[in-house]
Amino acid sequence: MGQKIFQANSELQDWLLEQNSAIIFIPTMGGLHAGHEYLIRKAKETKNKRKQIVLVSIFVNPLQFGKDEDFIEYPRNLKKDAELAFNAGADAIWSPDYSQVFPGGENSHFKIQVPEALNNQLCGAERQGHFDGVATVILRLINIIKPEILILGEKDWQQLIIIRKLFHELSIPIKIKSFATQRDQSGLAYSSRNSYLSDSEKLNAQFLPKAIETAKKEFDKNKIINLNKIAKQIKQKNLKIEYLKIVDAFSLKERENVNDICLLAAAVKCGSTRLIDHTFLMRRKPIIAIDGPAGAGKSTVTKEFAKRLGLIYLDTGAMYRAVTWLIQDKSIDSSDLIGIKNILKDSKLDFKNSNSNSIEQRILINNIDVTNQIRTPEVTSLVSEISKHKLVRELLTTQQQLIGVNGGIVAEGRDIGTAVFPDADVKVFLTASPKERAKRRYLDLQKRGYKLSSIEDLAKEIKERDKNDSERKIAPLKKAQDAIELVTDGMNIEEVLIELTYIFRSKIPEEVWLTPNL
Ligand code: C5P
Repeated sequence: MGQKIFQANSELQDWLLEQNSAIIFIPTMGGLHAGHEYLIRKAKETKNKRKQIVLVSIFVNPLQFGKDEDFIEYPRNLKKDAELAFNAGADAIWSPDYSQVFPGGENSHFKIQVPEALNNQLCGAERQGHFDGVATVILRLINIIKPEILILGEKDWQQLIIIRKLFHELSIPIKIKSFATQRDQSGLAYSSRNSYLSDSEKLNAQFLPKAIETAKKEFDKNKIINLNKIAKQIKQKNLKIEYLKIVDAFSLKERENVNDICLLAAAVKCGSTRLIDHTFLMRRKPIIAIDGPAGAGKSTVTKEFAKRLGLIYLDTGAMYRAVTWLIQDKSIDSSDLIGIKNILKDSKLDFKNSNSNSIEQRILINNIDVTNQIRTPEVTSLVSEISKHKLVRELLTTQQQLIGVNGGIVAEGRDIGTAVFPDADVKVFLTASPKERAKRRYLDLQKRGYKLSSIEDLAKEIKERDKNDSERKIAPLKKAQDAIELVTDGMNIEEVLIELTYIFRSKIPEEVWLTPNL
């Protein structure tokens, strides 16, 4: 493919046409450093169905600099930048001039105004018009490039949140992927502006990340954050604080208590250089809720997803099935509430891993391994009936909440995002058309060696179970209001996993949960 540097849009367009590839686009203002290098390496690793190219743009966007800011001094060294980008794996660089991005001047193009709720916080409050300029130029750039994926760093977290919302509200079908802030040995976050720092300023600048890291460690231990203490540490080193705040990581609203994922964010002046940094605060590890109707393929993908994330996997359907098996085994009628209560009050449910390396779980009820028995058509046909009872739901919900009390769990079922973990960080409603689900069930039963009904009969049974599950009074099957729906018709397991990873990453920053398997 060669290492191409384009200045003119027309040349870039001709070349892109020839490539006929998905474009993974990394917009930058140049002054490239190890943080950009990381983004380029990550872009290169992206799994994609199509042939793909990684394109880095270098454009110092005048719209995002304030009157007295450093537009003129901003580092510009195309040769050095190109070397770094190509070494990291970029396929091409686009370095347009102003007229290529804003032909006819900025006043002949739409300008974006960032909503106040996001703009009046953190850097937006300090740098008038900055994010309007960022959003406007990003739209211009993606309009010219038409990438499949846009890569942004988590370092500029507010920018990331704003661009995500912009794409969402304008229904721009481009995926945004973000990656963790990179730091030098002293802990200082890489930034193009670090080149302005003198040696003695660099020594002082380190105390910004140090103070933030110490505060995070203290929070992880005691769940307490003391902003005054952090401010005192920062000020000792001649750093002038512009802001130091705890905000909700997604709404950016200021928070006193850390319930959802929060951002402890700061901007300081070190000499005349403005530096920003942050960390994320969470009171527990992430919780991922995957709900959906019967036969949507939840188990297969949830199990594998939990493994890749290194989190606990919880199949709540298996719990309802085990209880159903026990009730059937003891010949208790499905409507005999007293009988059910008596048998369940002394029962014990346990999950065991098949072996230490496996995510395959065995389920035991009263020490009897019922892993295979709970998948029989007899249990399947009765489970909805049993799981609608209040006493069964209360018992199992409490157990499930206990398993997830410290987070670090991927749970699948019908009511995880609505009733069991309504505060889950990631909620997915995984579904597929009834026809596709019946087909999958058919293949699954065939694999397990069961006598098969026709696909039509399976479709009828699935429909009935969905109806029962969605119409019951307590914790019915329904998409949580804040869940993302994923329709998996025509997708294979790996494709669903790629989509789940994407959803996960849009809710859980890489800085919070970095796993080599994703
Ligand atoms: O997911 P699976 O098909 O194993 O679930 C079996 C049944 O268990 C569902 O049809 C539903 O009636 C019940 N269930 C539930 N709530 C959950 C999980 C499963 O009611 N969270």
